[in-house]
Amino acid sequence: MSENRIIYVGDNHGHLNPLEGMGVENFAKRFRASGGWLYVLVNLLSWNFNIRIKSPQDYRKLYDITISTAKELRRSGLIVPVIIGPHPAEATKKIEEGVEPSEVAELMIKAYELAAKYVKLGRAQGLGEAGRPHRPVSKKVMETCTEIMFKAIELAAELDVPLHLHLDAGKKPIELAAQSARKVGASKVVVHHVRGELAYYAAYLGLVPSVPARRNEILAAKRAWDKMVVESDFLDDPRRPGAVVAPWSISKTFRRLLNTGQMSCRQAEKILVHNPAKLYSVKPVL
Ligand SMILES: [Zn+2]
Repeated sequence: MSENRIIYVGDNHGHLNPLEGMGVENFAKRFRASGGWLYVLVNLLSWNFNIRIKSPQDYRKLYDITISTAKELRRSGLIVPVIIGPHPAEATKKIEEGVEPSEVAELMIKAYELAAKYVKLGRAQGLGEAGRPHRPVSKKVMETCTEIMFKAIELAAELDVPLHLHLDAGKKPIELAAQSARKVGASKVVVHHVRGELAYYAAYLGLVPSVPARRNEILAAKRAWDKMVVESDFLDDPRRPGAVVAPWSISKTFRRLLNTGQMSCRQAEKILVHNPAKLYSVKPVL
């Protein structure tokens, strides 16, 4: 990668809202122009689309919206792996609304089994984001979310596909997830939005660190560069423009790391192209 050579960007975790966001085509154009080649599209929350969840089958609507968004994105030439499954905030909300935790666990586990069926049919490429809330919650909420996470890890192992985990802060949740992944032989468990300084620890325990694509986080994750991917966690919410990294800014961030000699071209290509290509079993752009 010389100074002028294009930096290809694989964004390991982002969302799109085709109803209220910037527009799928507009997004694709902007991300492609910045060097984007792969965008891992993760479903949003059911309430982003006013979907009322009463049974696991209601998640079909959320999955189908995500899949049709991915189809539209692919028209631009982007490679778009699709990740589906209820976010831990979905279980948290149900329990806090008064639904029995055991009922909520059953509902979410069935929703994950439904997502696994989509994956088997080739309609989606992975599961998530499952895991644990990062805000303080009651013990029963945390236990229920953990139970759902374990089931999602099991399903990901059976299918041998990536699972995106959303974890609470610190080393303990990473250890818990790694232990469960090792037990069932899940080899593609991704720790989404992991802090740079914990990236190596996650990789050391056999998980795939997905680090927010910010300069300071990437630098803090240096020991994990060979194993990690980066992500924007783009929300496509016009009301929260500064909440996340813009996917089209990732190439600039890496350009700066290269130009200041803080990272080699080979290293950048590993993080942005080869690691995500391997994770999603797709042909690397380079
Ligand atoms: Zn996300």
